[in-house]
Amino acid sequence: MEKVQQLKTHLSDVVRLNQAAALLGWDQQTYMPPGAAESRAEQLATLSKLAHEMFVADETGRLIEAAEAEVQGADYDSDEAALVRVVRHDYDLETRLPSRLVQDIARETTLGHEVWAKARQDSNFAAFAPTLERIYDLMREKAEALGYEDRMYDALLDQFEPHMKTAHVETLFDGLRAELVPFVAAIFERLDRVDSSMLRLPYDVERQAEFGLKVIKQLGYDFSRGRQDKAVHPFTTSFSINDVRITTRYLPDFLPSALFSSVHEAGHAMYEQGSSQSLEGTMLAGGTSLGVHESQSRLWENIVGRGKPFWQHFYGDLQRTFPEQLGGVDLDTFYKAINFVSRSLIRVEADEVTYNLHIMLRFEMENALLEGRLAVKDAPDAWNSKMQSYLGITPPDDAKGILQDVHWSSGLVGYFPTYSLGNFLSVQYWDKALQDVPSIPDDIARGDFSTLRQWLQDHILVYGRKLWPGELTERVTGEPIQTRSFMRYLKDKYSEIYGL
Ligand code: ZN
Repeated sequence: MEKVQQLKTHLSDVVRLNQAAALLGWDQQTYMPPGAAESRAEQLATLSKLAHEMFVADETGRLIEAAEAEVQGADYDSDEAALVRVVRHDYDLETRLPSRLVQDIARETTLGHEVWAKARQDSNFAAFAPTLERIYDLMREKAEALGYEDRMYDALLDQFEPHMKTAHVETLFDGLRAELVPFVAAIFERLDRVDSSMLRLPYDVERQAEFGLKVIKQLGYDFSRGRQDKAVHPFTTSFSINDVRITTRYLPDFLPSALFSSVHEAGHAMYEQGSSQSLEGTMLAGGTSLGVHESQSRLWENIVGRGKPFWQHFYGDLQRTFPEQLGGVDLDTFYKAINFVSRSLIRVEADEVTYNLHIMLRFEMENALLEGRLAVKDAPDAWNSKMQSYLGITPPDDAKGILQDVHWSSGLVGYFPTYSLGNFLSVQYWDKALQDVPSIPDDIARGDFSTLRQWLQDHILVYGRKLWPGELTERVTGEPIQTRSFMRYLKDKYSEIYGL
């Protein structure tokens, strides 16, 4: 496979440049002194420009064509055939965008972020509206440049969830909404059944950090190939299969925040660490899509971390860590508390029952804005009326409504649905893992996470980007993505917690 090898060698510089840029980005959000902001932006711009130019060069196109001819008839699962497939996909995406458009989007979203932050602070949508209009104009231009067959949104969605179609997401959401909206309404009638006040006491931050670290080490996040630092917004970043880092932040008066976000990010990180070592330094290392990535973080955070077996193992330790706050709280009360459902207006604070309703709303609005069925000036009203019909609440102002998320100001249209796809997939993968290895819940209750980790490693992580998300899910579970399993999981878990 001489041609494939040439392609791989040519691209390894692109991969290394992107990894170096990611390291600078990590430093920017963790240790960089504020005075370095401007020089760092220039360093990052230079590295990204170099990587982009090398990647979209005509030579890359020629090498891909030669490699495509060479892998004709090769095993679909071979690293070589997969590399050529994935590089072709990425190359087509990047070369279809005229550099003038890329620059326009970069400029508008850099400025747009500032405008959005100020508008949110003042809760003044009108101040953000002209920016949002320009961003949606650019997104339409981008979709046209990328190309699509059916819906304009398909082109944007494909960047984050390759080969997923808008119509498919609509079908999934329609099915879920019909069952979820009444289920949420029934839980909202009984919110007083769960007392979570003990989670909102002062919790020493040092002890929170120590406990959280112990947990994610035990889950299997490999610290010889990773580390955890503090940052304003928790995130995971990777510079190699063998250097995958996470960040967290600690709230002194709310225990679940740091703990579950650490478990969430560790789930992302274990996915990145789990790629086969044969993929190191290639474009095949890492996660196959944002949705599958989120399936891993959510599986660890919600299904495992907010599950009973997990706390059968860890709760005694947590009580000893925080005897004043939790000494008199029994396991069952604590389990219900960490799964409390609330009428939250804010997506990032939403529990797993209501979370996907927040996503559906954004997905529907993105499509309507993109396809011109909704005018930007009417967007806040559309947002508020959807909040009322899905969650029975209306935001008191735009800061707690349409202005709450950073995504649109950053030009991330098509990104939101991947959060929900991840939630659906997390349950499908979990169900299959339990079918294959029924001892997993008992193992977890004994503090042994290795059986689950190994199953994920063998069935999902090892592939890196070799299989597209749809292919991976079919292969792992024997069926496409669906919402039936997710809804059943919610009903089983929350009917018990809320006595429905
Ligand atoms: Zn995540």
